[in-house]
Amino acid sequence: MHKTFSFPIHCESPQVKPDSVEVRNVNGEVVIFASINPPDSHAFEAYDVFDKVEIIPSLVKMVEKIKNGGNKKKEIKKWVKEWGLLKGSLTKNEFDQYEMRQSIDSFWREAEKLYDLWNLHKHTVNRDLESIKKHVQKKEKIYDSHTLNTDFIHDEESGTYLFFSESESKVKVAEFFLFSNKDYKAKEIAIWDESEELVTYQYICMHYILNQIEEHVSKGILRHYWLKRDSYQEKDYFKIEPILTFNNLLDALYMQLFILMTENEKKICPVCEHPFTPERKDKKYCSETCYLTAKSRRYRARKNAAM
Ligand SMILES: [Zn+2]
Repeated sequence: MHKTFSFPIHCESPQVKPDSVEVRNVNGEVVIFASINPPDSHAFEAYDVFDKVEIIPSLVKMVEKIKNGGNKKKEIKKWVKEWGLLKGSLTKNEFDQYEMRQSIDSFWREAEKLYDLWNLHKHTVNRDLESIKKHVQKKEKIYDSHTLNTDFIHDEESGTYLFFSESESKVKVAEFFLFSNKDYKAKEIAIWDESEELVTYQYICMHYILNQIEEHVSKGILRHYWLKRDSYQEKDYFKIEPILTFNNLLDALYMQLFILMTENEKKICPVCEHPFTPERKDKKYCSETCYLTAKSRRYRARKNAAM
């Protein structure tokens, strides 16, 4: 793209913090109701998702707590009380309240998926090959280029074309199966080079995450925020402020991940889950506090193992 057409874009997603959250059975389905009392003024008090960096980290911690045996209903209710539902639209109920509803199954499915993608992103930017391999199975395949009529391999499942040079007689290709036990499983392929193991895995994971994200970020609505005329003695022009709006909290959170991926300088702190820019390549934690927390956790784990 020519630099004439590059522009920064402002993102917004106003969300209302619910006044009360209830979980009820509706025709055999467990549904979360997030209600908002009628506002005194014309506007609801909303927070903007793009002002808050702690939403995904808190979602990740909530999912982790449930996976470690925490009470699902209780933990989800607590989270929704703080941030709202992931999906749904505001409607008026019979008590003249505004409410949003989402089945607990749907909420959990989306939360778990975002949790998995966040972890995969974290391991990828943190260069943690061991952890990446827990989500990705690899199968190697050797292609004899003399038996192929083309200088490329096309994989229909992943939609990938792999090109190779004519001088190579044997081409090693690896197939990667991501989250094979989940409904967001996918296959990716790449030319396999042992010396580039980490980079190949990182590339595969990034590609996969982007595919999963794009379905959500494409739901953003592009409009103009204001139109303004600037007039000086020598210049006189109109300009607009573009704005990308996301209705659902979930789509906005995926957009946050997308923004993080446009500049992969940031790592994710394995303790607090917050993105941070490391001053050194080998820096693992966002702060001294998180470094010390990790250290004492390792110490406790070793002590427990020895007992
Ligand atoms: Zn941290």
